[in-house]
Amino acid sequence: MRCPYCGSTNTQVKDSRPSEDHTTIRRRRVCADCGGRFTTFERVQLRELTVIKRHGRRMPFDRDKLMRSVQIALRKRPVDPERIERMVSGIVRRLENMGENDIKSETIGRLVMEALKALDDVAYVRFASVYKNFREAKDFEALLGELAGTEGDDEETAPGKAPASAED
Ligand SMILES: [Zn+2]
Repeated sequence: MRCPYCGSTNTQVKDSRPSEDHTTIRRRRVCADCGGRFTTFERVQLRELTVIKRHGRRMPFDRDKLMRSVQIALRKRPVDPERIERMVSGIVRRLENMGENDIKSETIGRLVMEALKALDDVAYVRFASVYKNFREAKDFEALLGELAGTEGDDEETAPGKAPASAED
């Protein structure tokens, strides 16, 4: 494994350890040339996936990218990192099990929305508002309406201000 600091390939594994659920192996490595330390993860990959973007552009599926967008949606939400990790692994497994190597970016977005909806309402709204690229505030209100009744007592951490609603 090439050192990310100096580019040397003269690196050594110091320590290997499986994650709690044994789906990942974490390896701590050290570079013999510059002393830099870094960590790599080993996971099962059932299938080589390619993402087809909206305008037909193709790029290799990147789990880390998916994880980052999920983490942005979940920023400051009280969700256990292990659950987030499991959610992302679940999404990747579902994509791999679809039986196609080419996956539309919309499909990934839909699976992320489904998963976030089950995990955290606020994160779901954040992700959906970016993903669906709402043009009108109305769409956003409709979505909040869809969630009404399932909301807990975490209003103070909701993103932005709730749209003005009719008073009783
Ligand atoms: Zn190095």
